[in-house]
Amino acid sequence: MKEDKKNYEPTEKLYFQDAYLKEFTAKVIGREIVDDHPVVILDRTAFYPESGGQPHDLGWLNDLRVIRVEESGEVIYHFLEKELPANEVQGRIDWTRRFDHMQQHTGQHILSQAFYEVAKGETLSFHLGPQESTVEIGLPAVSDKVLTEVEQLANQIVFSNLEVKTYFVPEEKISAVPLRKPPKKSGLIRVVEVENFDYSACGGTHCQRTGEIGLIKVLKPEKIRGNVRFSFVCGYRALREFENRRRLIQELARIFSAEESEVASCADRTLTELKSLKKKQKKIEEKLSFYEAREMVEKSPSKIISGIFPEKSPEEIKYLGLNLIHQGEILAALVSFRENYFHLILAASDKLKVDVREAIGLLKSEINIKGGGSPTLIELVSEEKDKAEKALKLAEDFLKNKSGLS
Ligand SMILES: [Zn+2]
Repeated sequence: MKEDKKNYEPTEKLYFQDAYLKEFTAKVIGREIVDDHPVVILDRTAFYPESGGQPHDLGWLNDLRVIRVEESGEVIYHFLEKELPANEVQGRIDWTRRFDHMQQHTGQHILSQAFYEVAKGETLSFHLGPQESTVEIGLPAVSDKVLTEVEQLANQIVFSNLEVKTYFVPEEKISAVPLRKPPKKSGLIRVVEVENFDYSACGGTHCQRTGEIGLIKVLKPEKIRGNVRFSFVCGYRALREFENRRRLIQELARIFSAEESEVASCADRTLTELKSLKKKQKKIEEKLSFYEAREMVEKSPSKIISGIFPEKSPEEIKYLGLNLIHQGEILAALVSFRENYFHLILAASDKLKVDVREAIGLLKSEINIKGGGSPTLIELVSEEKDKAEKALKLAEDFLKNKSGLS
């Protein structure tokens, strides 16, 4: 937000006096256009601006939607969807969104202090996201045991339903307050105290008692900048998270026809079986490919075996090519498809002394194709699927010319 140029009076922050204020009246003391949006400045507001890791409020001024709230200096700017002509306004904040932010934010204070008490882990940053929030803790690693202790302590504070007090302390007296982190601001410093547990310098909105936060649940650790960052949810978000996971496990239990408690071992067993089946299948396919190659050679009037095999994978025609040339003095040109590509295998029995790599240049001069391989087998791939037949014809001609066979 640009700096306040018009020297507005500082906006009276009603959310500092009462974080539970949902409706208020105010006078419009300024209007501007910022980023193509009409913006109003009020003498007082309950709208919390984006600040200190907590997102801004949404809501309404009269019947117009407030879409963004920013602070510059001591002045709060309300971004509106449309021009607001009135001079006196009735403000109403989106309480569901605000209360959610209060649960996450107050939960973060407690979680941060719990990390400090249990493991001397300092909170380096906090982000309140739309689905989950995160805290980056200044520790290289946090064991499951420590994390369990942190969660236990944090939730014990919640269930103790302690008071969350806010008060202002002058800068020169702030050293008497056992703040978790030194304050970033000077002058009058706003202290948020979770009764004898945590003291933070903070300008956000918080629950009055810890019980309102509801469950504090850490979801997932991840390494970042040599520290550990934890995502977490509090209150209604924790309830939603629990419900989402319950549905997921129920669905898995249905898929595996298993008890919910057995889903993990069931999935593990299924994957192990799948791996073993794939191994067996590969062996069978290899054997089958050998017999298929033998049958093709027996039935073919020519030493050059070629064709398009839409039902086979590129791996299968490669294997078939190898099996064909092991049957004797045989040459092979085989095509298959995968997604938007066609694959061409060219193979020649080494007794024939035909270097199939020589075909690459010839094919490239006609088709946008690439690939390579050994003197006895090459694999080429092209996106020009409509030229698969042409490629096969060119490959057949090459094999005829080079081997003198037909
Ligand atoms: Zn706070």
